[in-house]
Amino acid sequence: MNMELSRRAFLRTAGAGLAGTTLGAMGFGEVEQAMAAAIRPFKLANTTETRNTCTYCSVACGIIIYSKGDLRKGERADITHIEGDSDHPTNRGTLCPKGAALLDIVHAKTRLTRPMLRKAGAASFEPISWDEAFDKIARAMKDDRDANFVATNKDGVTVNRWTTTGFLAASATTNETAWCTYKVVRSTGMLVFDNQARV
Ligand code: SF4
Repeated sequence: MNMELSRRAFLRTAGAGLAGTTLGAMGFGEVEQAMAAAIRPFKLANTTETRNTCTYCSVACGIIIYSKGDLRKGERADITHIEGDSDHPTNRGTLCPKGAALLDIVHAKTRLTRPMLRKAGAASFEPISWDEAFDKIARAMKDDRDANFVATNKDGVTVNRWTTTGFLAASATTNETAWCTYKVVRSTGMLVFDNQARV
């Protein structure tokens, strides 16, 4: 919303903000809370809430992503605000400074949003589709496992090892997703598997 702000109105608004902050520093935190409570409904009006997990670390704090724009109407949805999920058992609505700055990641110009491929001999990466990326990964894993899977050791004992491919899982998952990741990776016989603390 664009708003014409006169010099007098600006000073009045700035004065109110300063008063709120100063009162807060003096122990009148309710004033700041009341101001935040009054402003918040407007900030989040007409937004869509989407629950997710912080992408940064293995604490896996729950977040709520607020976006504007209705995809069902063909509109583009822009993420306008991210905050801690007060219903999430891990963080109960709190976020550390990294999590509190998640909106900057979303809007970072350097954020990778598509799979990239550097073909053999090429000097640079080029974007490919997700389907193409998954097909390439699946093909490479299958070929390598077929060629290098070790069913038994030299003494004839069944070991079912696959040691020539490794898997690095992400932290932006729930505990349940991490559990599934572990089961899928280990079921292939893969030993080289690393992750953050949850897995
Ligand atoms: S908010 Fe902080 S502690 Fe929580 S998952 Fe993100 S980086 Fe980790």
